[in-house]
Amino acid sequence: LRVKALLEKLGLAEVNPGACSGPDGWITDPQGERLVSYDPTTGEAIGSVIQATAPTYDAIVARAAAAFAHWRTVPAPKRGLLVRDLGNALREVQEPLGEMVTLEMGKIRAEGIGEVQEMIDICDFALGLSRQLYGLTMHSERPGHRMYEQWHPLGPIGIITAFNFPVAVWSWNAAIAAVCGDTMVWKPSPTTPLVSVAVQRICNQVMADHGLDGIFNLVIGSNDQVGERMLDDGRLPLISFTGSVRVGRHVAQRVAARLGKTILELGGNNGIIIAEDADLELAVRAVLFGAVGTAGQRCTTTRRLIVHRSIVDEFTQRLARAYQSVPIGDPLEPGTLMGPLISEQAVERMMQALDTAQAEGGEIVTGGRRLPHLGPTFVEPTIVRMPRQTPLVCEETFAPILYVMAYETLDEAIAIHNGVPQGLSSAIFTLNLRTAEQFLSAAGSDCGIANVNIGTSGAEIGGAFGGEKDTGGGRESGSDAWKAYMRRQTTTINWSTELPLAQGIQFGE
Ligand code: NAD
Repeated sequence: LRVKALLEKLGLAEVNPGACSGPDGWITDPQGERLVSYDPTTGEAIGSVIQATAPTYDAIVARAAAAFAHWRTVPAPKRGLLVRDLGNALREVQEPLGEMVTLEMGKIRAEGIGEVQEMIDICDFALGLSRQLYGLTMHSERPGHRMYEQWHPLGPIGIITAFNFPVAVWSWNAAIAAVCGDTMVWKPSPTTPLVSVAVQRICNQVMADHGLDGIFNLVIGSNDQVGERMLDDGRLPLISFTGSVRVGRHVAQRVAARLGKTILELGGNNGIIIAEDADLELAVRAVLFGAVGTAGQRCTTTRRLIVHRSIVDEFTQRLARAYQSVPIGDPLEPGTLMGPLISEQAVERMMQALDTAQAEGGEIVTGGRRLPHLGPTFVEPTIVRMPRQTPLVCEETFAPILYVMAYETLDEAIAIHNGVPQGLSSAIFTLNLRTAEQFLSAAGSDCGIANVNIGTSGAEIGGAFGGEKDTGGGRESGSDAWKAYMRRQTTTINWSTELPLAQGIQFGE
């Protein structure tokens, strides 16, 4: 009953779309296969959509391309008004949309609603940004010349998103891309189709209110019919991809083969160094949220703890006590702090990782078991003490496993910290200025995000978000991440009556 009410509130009760855009409704593809969405908490089917086939995909991209021809000519501050209204529309449905994220993805209600808050925040940011798409002016070396750079819209772009932030990641891209003058085609994760339909419905209404169509577009479809086509589609100059390193590597190669651009937001393997002088009370709380929050299914989840040998036993015990008091259960229930994993396969992968950890010399400090009385997707959050950074610890297992390792010197801690292929988020807990600054220095953390006395997860939208190495190098959200959604043009204007050449070259007369 609760599910039905939620679906009705979001206008999802009667639609069964496969691909959509614009005010004239949903395109249902008679050839499209049905995709069922399951509640990871109960395993029950929530609803289904008809997936797009290749011809529908083509029609949607053509629509996005046609809309771009107009949208790029609309002044950026006016484009900002569309995004402002999108943010306001999201405010009105924050609770039901957040609960729908919880229902379909399994993160707790506070985090589902927080995810929608992030969408609202990025719309506010993008509105301000629409008046600040600044280019530089340079002094020309030639008299009577002016030189400057300007930023133009890039085109219709492709956005491919992961299951774990089923709507926020889209909004980081979409709000910024829209004020930059791009139109877009979104392929969500097949695990979370319904929230994307809910978001597209809101977009359709906001576009219709502005007399617009084709700016925000959604295509739900298989990799074969949609995903791979996006990678190869020369009409999409940019593919913004969020997902695993494995798929991201493939995406990067395919898009590069046609000299397209990519923004890659791939997996993380985030570590926290706990120095001997750390505020342990603060550190326990930060690690708990970072490692157990979203059931360990954030790209910024804390997966590795590197603790000074003098405090490692005490700290691990304190943390284990905190782990044992985490309320696990229905993520929609108030008080629950950890919900299910996304699927039974994810549980299987976690159990395999724990077997490997033990084979590599690890000892489970707390957790490690399935919780069948709650359902087949429920597990205990787990701490494993490792003798060293083994091959398994260097991998991202998308589950609530935290590996604890000891260190003697800060140099050693930083070497362990940087000794994994991924480079997304990192943190140090210390009250010592020198220790903190060494961690933040050029010889310190090699990640895109480096924090002091704050955990690895829970980034704010104002900063550029992304990571180095296998995390892919992309940046999204705040700061100057918008530049990836535009093309830079360097312009020189001669307002003199002479034609001096650069570098003083004399040519002819
Ligand atoms: P995934 O790589 O399995 O899938 C991501 C998306 O890629 C999905 O939409 C999927 O359908 C699509 N896809 C898969 N194969 C494709 C293909 N051949 N062509 C085109 N598209 C294809 O990832 P997931 O399991 O949904 O998400 C978890 C992963 O995402 C984790 O590794 C996590 O760290 C990462 N992630 C990273 C960030 C970040 O900002 N760095 C944010 C969220 C999640």
